[in-house]
Amino acid sequence: MSEANFDFDLIVIGAGYGGFDAAKHAAEHGLKVAIIESRDMGGTCVNRGCVPSKALLAASGKVRELADVNHLSSLGIHSAPVRFERQKIADHATKLVSNIRNNLTKTLERSGVEIIRGIGRLEGHQKVGIRQKDGVDRIFSAENVIIATGSDPFVPPGIEIDGRTVFTSDHAINLEWLPRWIAIIGSGYIGLEFADIYTALGCEVTMIEALETVMPTFDVDIVKIASRNLIDARDIDTKSGVLASRITPGCPVRIELSEMKTKKLIEELEVDAVLVATGRVPTSKNLNLDTVGVETNRGYIPIDNSMQVISNDKPIPNLWAVGDVTGKLMLAHTAAAQGTIAVDNILGKDRKIDYRSIPAATFTHPEISSVGLAQDDAKALSEKEGFELGIVRSYFKANSKALAELESDGLMKLLFRKDNGEVLGAHIYGLHAADLIQEVSNALARRSSVCDLALEVHTHPTLSEVVEVAYKQAAQQVVNHSTT
Ligand SMILES: Cc1cc2nc3c(=O)[nH]c(=O)nc-3n(C[C@H](O)[C@H](O)[C@H](O)COP(=O)(O)OP(=O)(O)OC[C@H]3O[C@@H](n4cnc5c(N)ncnc54)[C@H](O)[C@@H]3O)c2cc1C
Repeated sequence: MSEANFDFDLIVIGAGYGGFDAAKHAAEHGLKVAIIESRDMGGTCVNRGCVPSKALLAASGKVRELADVNHLSSLGIHSAPVRFERQKIADHATKLVSNIRNNLTKTLERSGVEIIRGIGRLEGHQKVGIRQKDGVDRIFSAENVIIATGSDPFVPPGIEIDGRTVFTSDHAINLEWLPRWIAIIGSGYIGLEFADIYTALGCEVTMIEALETVMPTFDVDIVKIASRNLIDARDIDTKSGVLASRITPGCPVRIELSEMKTKKLIEELEVDAVLVATGRVPTSKNLNLDTVGVETNRGYIPIDNSMQVISNDKPIPNLWAVGDVTGKLMLAHTAAAQGTIAVDNILGKDRKIDYRSIPAATFTHPEISSVGLAQDDAKALSEKEGFELGIVRSYFKANSKALAELESDGLMKLLFRKDNGEVLGAHIYGLHAADLIQEVSNALARRSSVCDLALEVHTHPTLSEVVEVAYKQAAQQVVNHSTT
């Protein structure tokens, strides 16, 4: 496909999950591809996100399980007091990161992708500038360019990060020490996962949330059951509706808390450490976006559903953006899916993304997951389109597998259209919720009806029967549903 007058068919800026999948897919389809990376191959997910955090959650989750004397004794098991080595848990994460990073780099090399180490930027239409690590600046031409520069932790004003006593997830994944008392600012999925890790390893946590309630981005019913288990039942104290207006690193770390509404100082805390988990910001500064006329939206690069970058409501030819920098469902699998779709469109296929069927999971013990519409959005859609919204709940306490595990505190909520049975969304809290959601995600991608899904046989005894029960209950409520 390469036109002789371009250096590359495709240049990808950023080798995170989005950039990696795009570059690999393009090279496998015969394109001449270069990928530019300024930091570590694999980006946030591999080096500072999904991979190390899940390694820490795996190890700390085992500690939690082995330390749960009541649960074990109910199963007839008596174990010795559990001991762990923090450094070895940290090493497990580091080794996994390095393995996955090396494999990913080799995969790209084997596919024929040219890896260029340096900082990339646009230099006008179909041109990319690179400031290499050795200081040399080069400019390459490419028929197509994909921006996949990801995101970085957001640190609110007034908070000083020293990387030792006040840090973000970028540092926390190293598990350099275990503070006796740690404040976690933010109760989104990153805050919750680290609260899970720290409490399992014996730390006391204070969770500070600026919005009125903790876990503000989760479904209300899920929050009720999940917060009871993941927060109230643990060594976690919560403060919501308050802003950590100033945080000063040191021993101790000083936190000034202000009332969210009035901004009046209400309390001062002294803790051993603070993890700032207040969201992420797109990495789009210094990309020279103005050379192609792109205006960002709070730093996010606007794209259409084929991943083409938008300027003045029109797609810019040959310029694409994928992953966290676009601000859509900021997850690794979204970035990867967007990367593949961008390349398919470059290859002349007409592919669009379906954000509604992309699942999300929080890997606490137990897990939380969701896919599709939130209840409020489903309600708004039902009012707009004039159909009745169906909501059913299926409980883990009625599931044989969950009961056998003595882990039956769990809930699945399914949202669907009562007129035609179409699945609109699902929210799950409970054992293996992250795996369970995939089935609903696949159904949602096909816009399946609960009437058809209710006929599909599920293995007994498995947790998947929680989903089956939800489908069956929902099917009963669908207008004109036949039970024969
Ligand atoms: C603690 C934590 C846990 C997470 N857990 C999960 C999880 O369990 N599941 C999940 O799906 N997601 C998870 N995520 C989110 C996931 O990591 C991101 O959604 C994903 O990494 C986004 O991929 P990306 O390719 O868009 O960007 P990134 O992974 O951020 O990669 C972008 C890359 O571009 C490089 N770059 C930036 N600017 C330039 C430039 N100018 N020139 C060259 N290179 C540049 C960066 O160095 C980086 O390597 C987690 C995130 C965090 C922080």
